[in-house]
Amino acid sequence: MGNRFDVAIIGAGTAGLTARAEVSKRTENYVVIDGGTLGTTCASVGCMPSKALIEIANAAHKQVLLRNFGISDMDLPHPDNAKVMSHVRRLRDRFVDGVIKDMDRWKKHLIRKNARFIDANTLDLGDERLLADRIIIATGSKSVMPERWSRYRRYLLFSEDFFELESLPRRIAIFGLGPNGIELGQALTQLGIEVFAISKNKALGGLTDPDVQEYAFQTFSKKMSIEIGSGEILGESDGELSVACNDKSWTVDRVLLAIGRQPAVEGLGLENLGVPLDGRGMPRVDEGTLQIENLPIFMAGDANGIRPLLHEASDEGRIAGHNAASSESACFERRVPLQIVFSNPNIAVVGQSFASLMESEADFVIGESNYEHLGRAIMMDCNEGMFRLYAGKHDGYILGAELIAPHGEHLAHLINWSIGSQLHAADVLSMPLYHPVLEEGLRKAFRDAARESAAIKPQHEMLRCEDAIVG
Ligand SMILES: Cc1cc2nc3c(=O)[nH]c(=O)nc-3n(C[C@H](O)[C@H](O)[C@H](O)COP(=O)(O)OP(=O)(O)OC[C@H]3O[C@@H](n4cnc5c(N)ncnc54)[C@H](O)[C@@H]3O)c2cc1C
Repeated sequence: MGNRFDVAIIGAGTAGLTARAEVSKRTENYVVIDGGTLGTTCASVGCMPSKALIEIANAAHKQVLLRNFGISDMDLPHPDNAKVMSHVRRLRDRFVDGVIKDMDRWKKHLIRKNARFIDANTLDLGDERLLADRIIIATGSKSVMPERWSRYRRYLLFSEDFFELESLPRRIAIFGLGPNGIELGQALTQLGIEVFAISKNKALGGLTDPDVQEYAFQTFSKKMSIEIGSGEILGESDGELSVACNDKSWTVDRVLLAIGRQPAVEGLGLENLGVPLDGRGMPRVDEGTLQIENLPIFMAGDANGIRPLLHEASDEGRIAGHNAASSESACFERRVPLQIVFSNPNIAVVGQSFASLMESEADFVIGESNYEHLGRAIMMDCNEGMFRLYAGKHDGYILGAELIAPHGEHLAHLINWSIGSQLHAADVLSMPLYHPVLEEGLRKAFRDAARESAAIKPQHEMLRCEDAIVG
């Protein structure tokens, strides 16, 4: 390998790997630089191990539910936490190995070092420098760690080290109930761990609609201990930590800090690029091209802080890879936003959130449904949930939704695809709903929205033969 490349990619996570696949279609003169742990955040410490733990916790919880169904002559589950964690790691390793094995095909392009910008075309790798016509930054993100708590480091857990635990602590405080905090907090509660969760507000799992936030808060408060306020660590003694919020305090063995993630750009030398950086040390990135100002540099995945989710990192890798390997930067249409939290019930924000609609002063109507009286949900003993749908006031187009609902991950996809297909609320009502299914829980919200909007709606949620489009 020389030291002059058409394209250099910093970071071999999901965004970096999809960027590589795109770049390799156009040039063989590229390099991927990564000095950290290989295998991607998603597979090693993110989506996959967290969902593996959630599946185990849900299975244990189902055993408890069986009693409500009259199946009582059986032992309640007694999770062996060491075995649980080892099962999670086994699955995690399988996903990580799959990623690493795939990297074997092109390992001659991989340099196992950290990179730092000297200028827009030059990277310092510690003991060598390399030049690249175009560079992709795909360095991911890392957990926020407030400096004031660094002296308690041996008690603190982050998603980066949580899955390395040989067993689970008996008592744990969780600071932050965004997607990661609520998912792990509930899973640990279901596994019999004493969890004390603290959230600075009711925006659990990233919800922004105050009505859904309140419903979610009431729902999860019945399932786990949640305190709204600011969490503090008071001190340590005899291997235990004392934590507090409002006028309450708890003694715990560990604290999981899930108060957010930030782009991993520290030490990357972005200050040497000659473009303005904001208060977080971030340059301005164009959302459609992912280009930094007019530099030959593109930023993809969690590193740019725009849409820190797996499928978005994958899309952004493709965009950055395409543009870095082309002579001109193309602007790509982004997919309809979709964020799902694998709590129980699921939480989802689809399309435009309530907050973004309010911020843009959009003219919209709201439809609302509730899962408490839905037949199928009652049978499944999961009849809790609320769904709020947002549609254009003047045209009835579906704009977005926020929900907490049983199996909401699937409902969220249906809504997302309806938005992507540019459907009106009335269009959705004209499609069949089998009975009894959880999708029936969406209907009232769509009816509300169709009724409230000024869009033309069929009289009976069905088209007359003479109005149907043929062909
Ligand atoms: C606990 C948890 C659960 C999650 N669950 C979900 C989920 O269910 N669904 C979902 O969509 N998303 C989820 N996410 C988010 C998802 O994992 C991320 O959005 C995605 O993995 C980001 O991919 P990336 O390529 O941007 O970064 P990464 O995969 O983190 O890759 C970044 C790479 O850059 C390397 N690097 C960093 N700095 C340098 C440097 N200076 N030089 C060289 N290399 C460097 C690192 O070693 C790393 O390999 C979760 C995240 C966490 C933490």
